[in-house]
Amino acid sequence: MEFAAFAERVDEIEREPSDLGTIGLLAALLADADALATVARFVQGRVFPAHDGRKLSVGSATLHETIARAAAGSVTAADVEERLATVGEIGAVAADYEFGAQTGLGSFGGGSTDPLTVEETQETFAAVADAEGDGSADTRSDLLFGLFNRADPIEAKYLARLVSGEMRIGVGAGAVRDAVAEAFLDGAETAETTEMDGATEDEETAASLDQFAEDNDDATEKDDDVDDEENTDTAVPTADPSTAAVAAVERAIQVTNDAGRVAVVARDEGRAGLAELGLAVGRPVESMLAQAGTVSETLSDWETAVVETKFDGARVQVHAAPDGDDGLAVRVFSRNLEDVTDALPEVVEHAQRHLAAPAILDGEVVAVDDDGEPLPFQAVLRRFRRKHDVRRVREEVAVEFHAFDCLHVGEPFDIGVFADAGLPSAPPVDLLDAPLRERRAWLEAVLAGGVATATETADADEIERLEREALAAGHEGLLLKRPHSTYDPGDRGADWRKRKPDVETLDLVVTGAEWGEGRRANLLGTFEVSVATGSAEDGSAASGEYAPVGKVATGFTDEALERLTERLDPAISETDGQTVTVEPTTVLEVGYEEIQTSPEYDAGYALRFPRFLDVRDDLGVADADTRDRVERLADEQ
Ligand code: AMP
Repeated sequence: MEFAAFAERVDEIEREPSDLGTIGLLAALLADADALATVARFVQGRVFPAHDGRKLSVGSATLHETIARAAAGSVTAADVEERLATVGEIGAVAADYEFGAQTGLGSFGGGSTDPLTVEETQETFAAVADAEGDGSADTRSDLLFGLFNRADPIEAKYLARLVSGEMRIGVGAGAVRDAVAEAFLDGAETAETTEMDGATEDEETAASLDQFAEDNDDATEKDDDVDDEENTDTAVPTADPSTAAVAAVERAIQVTNDAGRVAVVARDEGRAGLAELGLAVGRPVESMLAQAGTVSETLSDWETAVVETKFDGARVQVHAAPDGDDGLAVRVFSRNLEDVTDALPEVVEHAQRHLAAPAILDGEVVAVDDDGEPLPFQAVLRRFRRKHDVRRVREEVAVEFHAFDCLHVGEPFDIGVFADAGLPSAPPVDLLDAPLRERRAWLEAVLAGGVATATETADADEIERLEREALAAGHEGLLLKRPHSTYDPGDRGADWRKRKPDVETLDLVVTGAEWGEGRRANLLGTFEVSVATGSAEDGSAASGEYAPVGKVATGFTDEALERLTERLDPAISETDGQTVTVEPTTVLEVGYEEIQTSPEYDAGYALRFPRFLDVRDDLGVADADTRDRVERLADEQ
């Protein structure tokens, strides 16, 4: 396909205001495109598939300079930037220049008079990404110059946008999915599959779903307030593919992480071909994500929940492929699907040592101190950033891998390992459609160490206890997962929930505390918080009487604990083992999920899942909330 034709078609899509019109135009473009995989990728502003680690590595300064170089007349990068400041978008800036005046650069395509094609553009981008070592910046710039030097304004517009990674035509992952369904499945399936030029297709390169999670529910990124109905009787083809066709395409995209390849398979092999696509070790899929939710809602929705520690680290997907006899070649991918294997040798070694079969695992890497206590997330980032000298950084910051999910198990080295595990089938298995409980059983069977604990419970008190334990061990909190849920790559659905306190907050007086454990042994870690029960006429705390409503051990940073310890230490009036009584001096803002009546607490009420939000330095103890307010809030629930 000529790049100019592609640019005209996407320009039309950019101007189309309605979602259905966009999908219709996109479906028509895909149906006409011989370089289908590349076109399906380009329309999303992607040069490579999401699972492919290659990057163009062209910064805006280089792009501006290249445009200036290729533009006729004596244009400088500063001129380009000046226009950009006015116009606001590099595509429109590029479209305003005249290119093609410079000849004699045949080696970069600069001398070619043939029309630029989509395939050639993609090949040049691949060469840009492959440029390495000394002089690679010049090579990249020269290659791009060769493209711009052959471009007419509309081609330049979309070349510039592709290089900058943003097509701005209102097409997201959802629109591509729907357009593929429309173009190749609904109705089209019974028609004979077209004789496409297979040689131009690169099945291994495809459109990405970088923003899949965000776009998943939006068919396109067009303005929401456009009324689709208004556009139905214009000349623009509209499309509304069937739910089944869309679901088939979506699943295929999830497992391959490659919309371009899915488009090709949909066109050439239809729904049957899509159904055969599966996970591949070495090709990462999007991570399943969590929503915020409360324990009370969660238990009432599902009855029981699988409760896991929320580790404060970085998400990784571990891919272990067979490598010789009993050996495993391991690659590690970050949440944005970057290959971070070299930065995390411990994870590679862990997988090699503990896996009984090739597998794809999902989990979190956490930085730990010398005592194995978790360090904050920032520490693990240092490991990710460090591409060189990993050995030295490894000595400074150790990391641990906690696996919490299993997406695939390959042929085992020793089938005996799986024989007594009570699993419903024998490996190899793809597990995305298996319920969480079953995936966990596979995980425990295949990985002999570093499996994160999961507790299935219907008991809110037990969840509260697990949360306290997780926090005391230095972790971030809890995740609640629906026991029957499947693994939906890229989905931030309601099947995984991060616990969140409700919005209502209380200002409570600290009346006691407990010393922390482990790393936090010399800091106060749990705080008894109280309401004023005062009999002062205005109901305020002026009388100086308080009654506890809960203990807060959640939500503190190390810094907040240090500040609070320093502040409360002089106010300690009694000590009983780890527990201290403190004079009322300090007010904390506390969030919680629910207020319950409680015979245990003197106030007669207890907060469920109390969480520290702030120290109210601006409030005196006389300003704290009263039992009357708590009673009112409890009644309103
Ligand atoms: P957030 O980044 O706040 O949206 O929380 C979701 C993130 O928590 C995930 O992307 C993971 O990196 C992380 N996480 C930590 N522990 C778990 C777990 N047990 N299950 C799933 N995600 C977890």
